[in-house]
Amino acid sequence: MIPFGEIGHLLERASGASPGEVDSIIRKARSLEGLTPYETGVLLCANGKDVTGAVFEAARDVKEAVYGRRLVLFAPLYLSNLCENDCLYCGFRRGNKELGRRVLTLEEIRSEAEAIIEDGHKRVLVVAGEDRERCGIDYIEKAVRAIYSVGTGGGKIRRVNVNVAPLTEEGFRRLKSIHIGTYQLFQETYHPETYKKMHPNGPKSDFHNRLAALDMAQEAGIDDVGMGVLFGLHDYRFEVLALVYHSLHLEARYGVGPHTISVPRIEPANNAPVSLCIPYEVSDDDFMKIIAVLRLAVPYTGLIISTRERAEFRDRLLGLGVSQISANSRTSPGGYTLESGGRREEQFSIADKRTTEDVIRDISRYGFSPSFCTACYRTGRTGSEFMGHAKPGEIQRFCLPNSILSFKEYLIDYGSDDLREIGDGLIKEQITGIKDRKMRTATLRKIEEIEGGKRDLYF
Ligand code: SAM
Ligand code: SF4
Repeated sequence: MIPFGEIGHLLERASGASPGEVDSIIRKARSLEGLTPYETGVLLCANGKDVTGAVFEAARDVKEAVYGRRLVLFAPLYLSNLCENDCLYCGFRRGNKELGRRVLTLEEIRSEAEAIIEDGHKRVLVVAGEDRERCGIDYIEKAVRAIYSVGTGGGKIRRVNVNVAPLTEEGFRRLKSIHIGTYQLFQETYHPETYKKMHPNGPKSDFHNRLAALDMAQEAGIDDVGMGVLFGLHDYRFEVLALVYHSLHLEARYGVGPHTISVPRIEPANNAPVSLCIPYEVSDDDFMKIIAVLRLAVPYTGLIISTRERAEFRDRLLGLGVSQISANSRTSPGGYTLESGGRREEQFSIADKRTTEDVIRDISRYGFSPSFCTACYRTGRTGSEFMGHAKPGEIQRFCLPNSILSFKEYLIDYGSDDLREIGDGLIKEQITGIKDRKMRTATLRKIEEIEGGKRDLYF
């Protein structure tokens, strides 16, 4: 599936590309065709201010062409920090004897979901450590159902994405049957030897089992899958190429590549030695390059960054190709409702500590449109069906109006007076950006309905 042995040679070849070749690859990327692994390698290896500037500019244009100025917001909901594995970078590793271990009860899960709803979110990402006995599929299934059951009217979680250890095919089928959105699983590192060192024991120590998991999810009918790398474990150029190979593999086999790629960088975690002494630390400049090059290589795949990144840096990354961000996140089970904030139970510490409202205020000021939209998945536009809409630029037709409608709801239900003023100004501007006149009129009509009390309106 991924020619691990060849990636090194390919990067060597790519680093010798001529300036003319670099230019023509950037031109190709601008046509939204995506890039081959070799072409991706060329852009990753190209140095110099001019080239980097041209790559960033192209990434901004591609992001704008495919996604417009929208940014989808979500919050993670940690169910449990029990873990059988010993990943050397993670605070949940079983070797961390100082961690306060907790598995949320269904009642506690509902309270966490309520707190997230009160913060204005409509999407959560369920996260858990791996404990097959106490937190297997039975528990996860009940947890997802509990989250969907909370709240009324407009104040409900409308999409639950899931980031848990690989399941059996039957387990994935059960996840599908309870209407999850995306199943995410990060390979962490695609470098087999590094993988072995970082995951010394437990079920996660099986590299190939993890690598096969997204295929299994697809085979079980989950057509929105998310992949990712934990940057800092191995050379980022190798990892980005492997991500591209992995995406191409899924596309060739299932007719659709990953719905999202996540790009976490390692954050400090207690008693997690690798998080405090990162073997291949990725600088901010290189991280910006990773985002821009991925945007060009897989233009229709969403890119996710989390609150792991510092606030002012996150804001710089947005234009380069990010399409989803988390806000006001907690990385411990019970983090939203425990008085202590769950600090003793957390997986790693978070750099961006802004409230959801502050994140929204900041991104609105930069001219991005905060979106709580969940329409595609609820109207069946998932997997290759989603890509069918995305590829000819259709995504823009629905997404801009839907993001406006979901933002309007947010402003009325959760926004403070000053945010409402900023947000309404932004919405006015964006409505003029809806090119199709009929769609513009229909959007204005729906906005009036929302002002009149209706909720959950979308196209
Ligand atoms: N336990 C499951 C697993 O490992 O696949 C799923 C959830 S795990 C809590 C979610 C992700 O957190 C991991 O895939 C890893 O990439 C990330 N992570 C672990 N330690 C981290 C750290 N110190 N800093 C940033 N991200 C980290
Ligand atoms: Fe457990 Fe996941 Fe953390 Fe590894 S990354 S220790 S599997 S929670």
